Amino acid sequence: MKELSLSLEMQAIKIRVQGIVQGVGFRPFVYRLAREMQLTGTVANTGNGVIIELQGEEQNITAFCSRLQSEPPPISRITDITTEGISVQEQRSEFIILLSRQGEKANTQISPDIGLCPDCLRELFDPRDRRYRYPFINCTNCGPRFSIIKTIPYDRPNTSMGVFALCPQCEREYHDPLDRRFHAQPNACPTCGPSLSWHNADGNPVATNDCIGACAEALAGEKVVAIKGLGGFHLAVDATSIPAVATLRKRKHRRKKPLAIMVRDLEQARKFCRITEQEAELLSSYRAPIVLLEKEKKSILAENLAPGIGLLGLMLPYTPLHHLLLADANCPPALVMTSANLSEEPICIDNDEALTRLHGLTDFFLLHNREIVTRVDDSVVRVMAGKARILRRGRGYAPEPLLLAHRTKNILGCGAEMKSSFCIVRNNEAFISQHIGELTSPQALDFYTESINHAQKILETDIQAVACDLHPDYQSTRFCKKHENSAQVQHHHAHGAAVMAEYGLDEPVLAVLLDGTGYSEDGIVYGGEYYRVDRRGYTRLAHLSLLPLPGGDRAAREPWRMAMALLHQTKGEEGVSEYSLPEALLQIDDSKRALMAQMLAGKINCPLTSSCGRLFDAVAALLGLCMVADYEGQAAMELEHQAERAWNDQKTDPYDPVLKNDDGILILDSRPLALQIIKDLHQGVAIPVIASRFHRWLLDGSSQILLRLRRQTGLNTVVLGGGAFQNKLLLEGLTTGCLAESFSVFSGEQVPSNDGGIALGQAYIAGAPEKYLN
Ligand code: ZN
Ligand code: ZN
Ligand code: FE
Repeated sequence: MKELSLSLEMQAIKIRVQGIVQGVGFRPFVYRLAREMQLTGTVANTGNGVIIELQGEEQNITAFCSRLQSEPPPISRITDITTEGISVQEQRSEFIILLSRQGEKANTQISPDIGLCPDCLRELFDPRDRRYRYPFINCTNCGPRFSIIKTIPYDRPNTSMGVFALCPQCEREYHDPLDRRFHAQPNACPTCGPSLSWHNADGNPVATNDCIGACAEALAGEKVVAIKGLGGFHLAVDATSIPAVATLRKRKHRRKKPLAIMVRDLEQARKFCRITEQEAELLSSYRAPIVLLEKEKKSILAENLAPGIGLLGLMLPYTPLHHLLLADANCPPALVMTSANLSEEPICIDNDEALTRLHGLTDFFLLHNREIVTRVDDSVVRVMAGKARILRRGRGYAPEPLLLAHRTKNILGCGAEMKSSFCIVRNNEAFISQHIGELTSPQALDFYTESINHAQKILETDIQAVACDLHPDYQSTRFCKKHENSAQVQHHHAHGAAVMAEYGLDEPVLAVLLDGTGYSEDGIVYGGEYYRVDRRGYTRLAHLSLLPLPGGDRAAREPWRMAMALLHQTKGEEGVSEYSLPEALLQIDDSKRALMAQMLAGKINCPLTSSCGRLFDAVAALLGLCMVADYEGQAAMELEHQAERAWNDQKTDPYDPVLKNDDGILILDSRPLALQIIKDLHQGVAIPVIASRFHRWLLDGSSQILLRLRRQTGLNTVVLGGGAFQNKLLLEGLTTGCLAESFSVFSGEQVPSNDGGIALGQAYIAGAPEKYLN
């Protein structure tokens, strides 16, 4: 940001402030500051930021400018300030706030939704306050934003609060520049604002004067309740009740997928999870994401919340409704709060839609009549290698932009297929969308296309170029190809570029891309890659050795197939015969195994893959951890959990990594690895030790590859990308390893390392400045 400096003569000045400066209490802040500094003039929201005109004594103007930057409202974010001198106007005698103007080309950003602020929280529980126990209390420092905006500028009629006429008291607050609710667009009170209603399983309203109390009571009675929230519906149950959690799992068809919980406050949270200072800060921040935390060994939480893994997703209340519910005397101390949807469909947002789609899933509905315009799931964050890493970008973060190193044309990155998101680049700002989900259902595809249209509208951006994955069958690729100016980017090139974009890296880097699935034109499924990446292209310098993928995509859902593949690759037909199979694989049906052995022997429907995710699957199944996966990444998460248990144990030397050189390409061979694992299994070595040695094999192997590639290329900067870096042992291990060898190493924080970050990488490559293009 530029230093503000004023010439001695200047007594009137015009300031333009850009960034997240609308809907965050910026104008009242300017107003109070100007009055305090005895300055006259105006402040206005425009499509191009906040414009301030000031007039007064020079020293006061200088003081104003410095305080503007040093103490702006907590949730605002200034990205640019420009100033110019203007002529003094004699008739100005006061400071006033001008109404919003339209017309100018927008460059303003939309604030994410913001968790309840401390002032509103105090009022919520103050019996003397007129909003005592009002579930929709908010102010300029908190409340819904992105999720209620229909169009810009951000003014009440352009939000879903437009249908609620302000009562005289709220109206007064809204127009009083000294009030905390001055121009708080969603301002409301029990007299004029939205309200709750309580419905039975069939959606029929049930009369009650205490919806929150009724909800708490139902939850205490082990019932499932669909609760309408900020960016969508949650399904809630008592997280301390095994039967309640089991009921929810059965209805949602989710046997094992970890369920996130919400608890009243940090003190409660500490009874269930180990929480560092950094994690505590994240949980309590106005973004209030789900934070992945280490479970306490013993707690009253139901064991079936997150079976097989040591992590638990936990969040604190972020709406007044949540605060009221969790404070209710009857409410269980921890609630499962999981997105209300059927498996891969998007989260429900509309009341009627919820009553239909959630019918049969829930026993009750807690509804309200404030429309959710934009679907935003809860964000998921994990602290790794000392940094908060966004694994799912949603509420509290979207649509806040990332600032890029260069300005480009307006580009749309279409993303991938799983964990999809898109990215719109406008000038030097990259708007990574909220998590959209798997683009496999028609509903998800609608959500995707609607969100792209909505984002283009509220960002006022005409797309000039579009980029997508190489995979011809991704829905996002098909969408992209409708655009005339489209480019395709290889999946792992995009993973690497996403990290480059986040840190403004323009020069070539070495990229370690440990991932699940990425399409390439040679017919091999990529996913364990070591590239040289630049903004023009990439060179594949090393990779994990290839394994057959028996049954294609089905192999990803059935890790036991990958275990058979690894054994077959290592020891041929003998490796998959009944007499030599490890114990775990004998639990698979004889006929299924026989069929698999045939497929592998005949190379029938067995494309080859270098995928790191599939290697994790193979090892997890060899160890008997996960034979058939209930959710994506399950085998890898369980294997990480086992490894963690032995991580600091002296016995866990790595398995020896063996590197081969195949025509100039380095290959980290998984066959010697498999032999070492089988030997350990025969000798009865504990599962956590084997899991740990496997992780260290991959870390050591990767470090050795990087050292060789540095000698070969002279490059010293490393980026880490791909879904496998959601694994803390891998991310921290490789980061430490790289630093120890004096590499500069980067990995995603704002941008998910999984496929949620692909769209940014695509846009970064498509928007490369001329000098990087052929
Ligand atoms: Zn507030
Ligand atoms: Zn009111
Ligand atoms: Fe990927």
